[in-house]
Amino acid sequence: MDLTVDVLICGAGIAGVSTAYHLAQKHGVRDILLVDQNSPLSLTSDHSTECYRNWWPGPGGSMVALMNRSLDIIERLAIESNNVFNLNRRGYLYSTADPSKVADLINESHTISQIGAGPLRIHKGGSIDHFYQPAQPHAYWDQPTGADLITETDLIHKHFPYLTEDVVAVLHVRRAGWLSAQQLGMYLLESAKSHGVKFLQNRVTDIDTKHGCIASVRLEDGTRIRTKAFINAAGPNIREVAQMVGIDLPVYSELHLKVAFKDHLNVLDRDAPMLIWNDAQYLPWNSDERELLIEDVDFQWMLGEMPPGVHTRPEGGADSQIILMLWEYCSESVEPAFPIPIDSQYPEIVLRGLVKMLPGLQSYIGKAPKPVIDGGYYTKTRENRPLIGKLPIEGVYVLGALSGFGIMASPAAGELLAAQVTGSPLPPYAPSFSIDRYDDPQYQRLIESWDAGGQL
Ligand SMILES: Cc1cc2nc3c(=O)[nH]c(=O)nc-3n(C[C@H](O)[C@H](O)[C@H](O)COP(=O)(O)OP(=O)(O)OC[C@H]3O[C@@H](n4cnc5c(N)ncnc54)[C@H](O)[C@@H]3O)c2cc1C
Repeated sequence: MDLTVDVLICGAGIAGVSTAYHLAQKHGVRDILLVDQNSPLSLTSDHSTECYRNWWPGPGGSMVALMNRSLDIIERLAIESNNVFNLNRRGYLYSTADPSKVADLINESHTISQIGAGPLRIHKGGSIDHFYQPAQPHAYWDQPTGADLITETDLIHKHFPYLTEDVVAVLHVRRAGWLSAQQLGMYLLESAKSHGVKFLQNRVTDIDTKHGCIASVRLEDGTRIRTKAFINAAGPNIREVAQMVGIDLPVYSELHLKVAFKDHLNVLDRDAPMLIWNDAQYLPWNSDERELLIEDVDFQWMLGEMPPGVHTRPEGGADSQIILMLWEYCSESVEPAFPIPIDSQYPEIVLRGLVKMLPGLQSYIGKAPKPVIDGGYYTKTRENRPLIGKLPIEGVYVLGALSGFGIMASPAAGELLAAQVTGSPLPPYAPSFSIDRYDDPQYQRLIESWDAGGQL
């Protein structure tokens, strides 16, 4: 079978769906085909923690600008849809029990605030302090921006009584929270379909080019589709799909898992923000466990220092007792494979890591309810910025390397790619995400010295 379309998008995850939405809804492109070997929004986009924030470190502030734009779009969509995707704005709460870290936390927060993430309010307990405004658990509109850095421990324990007594400072990032990624994606997909976008379940297996331009795309069942624009939004497969036109994208993938767990003792307040522990730690093993671990070369590492960043949040409505728990304690580059491999020790390790921040979780050690584990791949560039834009073959584009921020970034990333495909004016942050950035020797030098952190 032979078909012709104006735009073919490979991948109906949140990135492809958002691009289709913007092309159809904003630019009036009618003949768009989304092709995915799976159901829409069922791969990585269905297994995230569904969180967002505009608080991003990194030179130049382009990640902050991209996220601010994305959140403008997400908030507009929430208003227009009567918040069908349950957007909240409870914030991210970064905590530390290490007094020597507080000065750095304040300095980094000033830097991020100054590159566009909003004002920083410091609460030290003095008479000239700003008033700390707690988050309204279900509001998403008319809420504080920027961040509140609190070192007054009475104030910390008043608002976050479930945190350990040891905590000395918290940073409450305010343009942050979570949403239902599936519902947001379906809302975008349905709107795109109502503007003529079509979906086809099939696998892209080959791409033909002619004189340096896209010519046609071949599918697993033999169908050939002629097109003038091909968008590679294949998530963990963007590298493989780009190789079909002879381009080697500078990306790699890491496996990231997530645990859902029934907190039947109600340790975590159902109205809590996203909670992140900023300190490295040693896991709390008892002496019997310690002895067993010392004897086993495969498990000895669990006695060593573990990295900062273990995090959790409540999931679901008022009747739910589910909490999500994550910790990236051993990220390494792997070839994406499905179904994803599950590490059965992960829930126990994350739970023990969280006890440091939330001592009430100690009650579950050795008698935790059966967890549900899922996850997917963070496909990333070296400096952890996405790839959005043209590739060196006329009519071929990429939207990917969305790492652990694809849900929050895709509304603006899809908008940016749609502007490129239609030759529309581009926002100032566009060059920061183009693959051409790697041609700039100054950029190459910058990323050599750059701590590509900031990712949970
Ligand atoms: C554990 C975890 C937690 C996360 N938490 C967050 C979070 O809190 N906030 C956030 O913003 N982000 C988070 N992320 C990241 C986010 O989920 C991803 O960045 C995002 O889903 C990527 O979307 P995508 O559309 O690029 O990829 P995907 O959702 O993977 O979609 C790509 C699609 O392409 C299709 N495809 C691939 N190859 C082909 C082919 N040859 N032919 C046809 N179809 C093809 C696939 O079937 C798939 O449907 C998290 C990710 C993980 C794994």
